[in-house]
Amino acid sequence: MAVTEREQFHVCQVKRRRVRATGGYEPFWKVKTVAEALEDSDTEFRCKDCAGALKLFKRRVENGATPHVEHKLKGDSEYCPSGLHFLKATDGREPRISQFPVR
Ligand SMILES: [Zn+2]
Repeated sequence: MAVTEREQFHVCQVKRRRVRATGGYEPFWKVKTVAEALEDSDTEFRCKDCAGALKLFKRRVENGATPHVEHKLKGDSEYCPSGLHFLKATDGREPRISQFPVR
């Protein structure tokens, strides 16, 4: 099995708004694939596992890469349960939420 050296997620959370029962709107985070989020023109993203900030990579047709996201902060990748650096760590560390979660 090939191990990808680059972190790539294809699922993220996007910020949406919904009608509050008491009136007005409230934000909430919805899990979507990155491809869906791009189709829907979502602009606010975060990691579904650690709530950390993400960097968005749109599809580049020439090399066929699918749209994906990566952690913006290395510290998130080191402790996120789906972070590349976390998965590579051999010290038995515990995963945790981002120290700079997106709200
Ligand atoms: Zn994460």
